[in-house]
Amino acid sequence: TEEYLRKPDWLKIKLNTNKNYTGLKQMMRSENLHTVCEEAKCPNIHECWGTRRTATFMILGAVCTRACRFCAVKTGLPSELDWQEPERVADSVQKMNLKHVVITMVARDDLKDGGASVMAETIRAIRRKNPFTTVEVLPSDLAGNYDSLYTLMDAKPDILNHNIETVRRLTPRVRARAKYDRSLEFLKRAKEMQPDIPTKSSIMVGLGETKEELIEAMDDLRANDVDILTLGQYLQPSKKHIKVQKYYHPDEFQELKEIAMSKGFSHCEAGPLVRSSYHADEQVNAAAQV
Ligand code: SF4
Ligand code: SF4
Repeated sequence: TEEYLRKPDWLKIKLNTNKNYTGLKQMMRSENLHTVCEEAKCPNIHECWGTRRTATFMILGAVCTRACRFCAVKTGLPSELDWQEPERVADSVQKMNLKHVVITMVARDDLKDGGASVMAETIRAIRRKNPFTTVEVLPSDLAGNYDSLYTLMDAKPDILNHNIETVRRLTPRVRARAKYDRSLEFLKRAKEMQPDIPTKSSIMVGLGETKEELIEAMDDLRANDVDILTLGQYLQPSKKHIKVQKYYHPDEFQELKEIAMSKGFSHCEAGPLVRSSYHADEQVNAAAQV
C-alpha cells in the first residue's frame, strides 16, 4: 500500500456554508460560470465570498488543454469560444458586490491568442459595470506569445498574476507543458509593457523542494521585477495527483515570508491555506503604496 502523510491539525478546518453562499452557487450554475473557489474546493470560500467580497472566476471553459499534475481541472478538448462570457462575469461581479475579483483561465493552447482577447474583454466588461472593483488577472503563459500578452496588458488589469507554481528543478514534473524560464520571461515582459501594474506570482510548497530552491525561486522572481509573492501548502486534490512530500508548519511559512520580504517583495502572503488569490484585495492596496 502507498503511504500518505497524515494531514496536520492546522489544515483541518470546518467548511462553513450559509444561505447566502448557496444562493451564489445557484447563480453560478444558472449563468454557466465557473469559479476556482468551487472547482478547487477552496477552504477559504466562506471568508472570501462572504466577508472579504472577493472571488476567482475561471473563464474560457472548465476543460484545459494541459494536465498539470497538481491541478484538479479536467483535461480535454475545450468548448467553443463563448463571447457572452465576459458580460455574464461582469453581471455576477455586480450581483456578488465584489470589491476585488480575480479572473483566471484554463490554458487554451488550441486558440491562436491563447484566450487573451476574451480575458481582456472580461476586464473591460467588469470595469464598465463595476468601476470600483479591482481586477486581477491570472492568465496561462499564453504559450509565450507576447502579442497576446500585449492584448491583455492593454486592458490594464490592477494586478497581473502568473504563477511559477514550483521551483526550477520540479517544474518539468509538476507542470510538464510549462517552462520555468518562460514564466519568468512572461512576468518580466508584462512589467516592461505596463510598468505601473504590479506583477505577482505564487509558489505551492510541499512538492519536495528544498529551502535553498525556494530562495532561488524568490531571487529569480525579484530579478524579473515581480512585486508580490504568495506561498501556500500544496494539497493533493485526488489520489491520481502528485503526492504531498511535506506539510510545512505555520512557523516555517512565517520564516519564508520574512525571507521574501527581505528580498524586496512589496507584499508576501504565506501560510498553509494561502492560495494565489487569498487576501488579494490587500495586495492591491500594498501595491498602490509602492
Ligand atoms: Fe476563491 Fe481564491 Fe478565495 Fe479560494 S482563496 S475562495 S480560490 S478567491
Ligand atoms: Fe490546471 Fe492551469 Fe495546468 Fe490547466 S494549465 S492543468 S488549469 S494549472
